[in-house]
Formats: sequence, C-alpha cells, structure tokens
Amino acid sequence: MPEKERLFLTVDEALDAVRCDFAQYASQFNLLSVIWPMVFGDGAYVLRDAHSRSIWAKMSGNTKLIPSSEADLKQRIMDCLDRYTPGPQHLARICSRVFGAHVEAGPGPIADTTSGIWIDTGMEDFVCNQCGRCCLTLNYHDGCSVGDYQRWQDLGRTDILDWVGTIRQKGQVTACRIWVTPGTSDFAETCPWLARSPDPNRYVCTIHDVRPTICRQYPGSRKHARMTECGGV
Ligand code: SF4
Ligand code: SF4
Repeated sequence: MPEKERLFLTVDEALDAVRCDFAQYASQFNLLSVIWPMVFGDGAYVLRDAHSRSIWAKMSGNTKLIPSSEADLKQRIMDCLDRYTPGPQHLARICSRVFGAHVEAGPGPIADTTSGIWIDTGMEDFVCNQCGRCCLTLNYHDGCSVGDYQRWQDLGRTDILDWVGTIRQKGQVTACRIWVTPGTSDFAETCPWLARSPDPNRYVCTIHDVRPTICRQYPGSRKHARMTECGGV
C-alpha cells in the first residue's frame, strides 16, 4: 500500500484525532455506545430511550444509570482517555471504531519515533465523481493556510490572491480566508473556481493543480467522505 494512504499518529496525536472526530460529527450515538465499554470496561453501557431520545449511561461496577447526552458521553470518554492514556494496542482498537478503518499499533516511520498507531485511510481506490458537492456545500472559508497564500504568491497567481482575505501583522500575512469577493469583506456565494464540466452533471475545479490544501485533502478518509455526504466511491 502506498505510504501516503497509511497515516501514522503518536498516541497523543491519536487522542487529538479522536477529539477532533467527536467535535466534527455531532450525532454518533451508535459509535459512542460501542466505545463506552471499551473505555470504561465490561459492564459499562449506554442506552437511548426510543421515545424521549434521552440517553443514560452506566459505568462498570456502578449500579446507577446516569442521565447523559452525546456531548457528555464524548467528554467523559476523552477525560478518561486523557487521564489513563491507553496503550497503543488498545488505542488502535478504539481508533479503528472511531475512524471506521483498519488501525494497527506499531513503531513510527523513523527510528526514534515512539510507538503509536497506523491508520489505513482506505482512500487509495477512492474515485471522485465530480459531483461538486464538497465545493458547493462545505465550509472551507477558514481552511486556507498561509502556506497556500505564499505558494500563490510565488506562482504570481494574483488572480487567485484577489479572492483571498488576509490578516496582517507587521506587514506579514498571518491568516487567510477564502473566497472573499474582491473589494469587499463578503464571501463569494460559491467558489469562483468551480465550473460546470461539459457533462452537465459534473463540475471541475479551474485551479485544480494549485487548489488550496484543504481542497486537495478532501475527503481525508472514508468516514470523512461518508459523514459529509461525498458522492465519490
Ligand atoms: S478551489 Fe477548486 S476544489 Fe476548492 S472549493 Fe473551489 S472549485 Fe472546489
Ligand atoms: S463531494 Fe466527493 S465526489 Fe463530489 S466532487 Fe467532492 S470529492 Fe468528488
């Protein structure tokens, strides 16, 4: 498998990735109900009342059911993982569930890297069908990096830079936003680089080779694609 399709994370990075996943996707009750006993031990479980939709949680070794919410479950899981950092093997099993991917514990790619986990992104055979949904619906405005800005500057792409809002400190660009209608502080209604392809059901990116990193990295995983309703296969 090409290396770019496998992602190595240290234990701390993996915990941050789980935290980001929980923050990014609001409704993941089924996932949380699987993770809960993995974190709190056999006998721990969560329930959701089919009618009231209220959530109850039970810790291992405790007879009481405590009223809860998805946000509360996530917070308790992360607090526990931060407090009692799981070993790589256990963390790999948790991450496999969280990211819906094959995950293995192991040493990092360089000799002095501590152990962590390897995640197979499953993206090696991903095919974008050019539906344009990501460009039309996802919020990428804050996803432009200063690195993107500098790359466009180096390439002399003033046509792209015209659509980038910047914050400067002491003359240096320190933050960017895309795509801002030139001469205003308003976001463009749609990305100015998105165009219809000759096939009316497909779109093309007219700056494909130099598109922002956030666009190049989408979707980052099969789960990311699924959770954001990407039309690729
Ligand atoms: S720059 Fe290209 S890939 Fe990014 S949102 Fe616009 S059209 Fe889509
Ligand atoms: S939503 Fe998915 S399939 Fe559609 S254009 Fe974006 S990456 Fe391609």
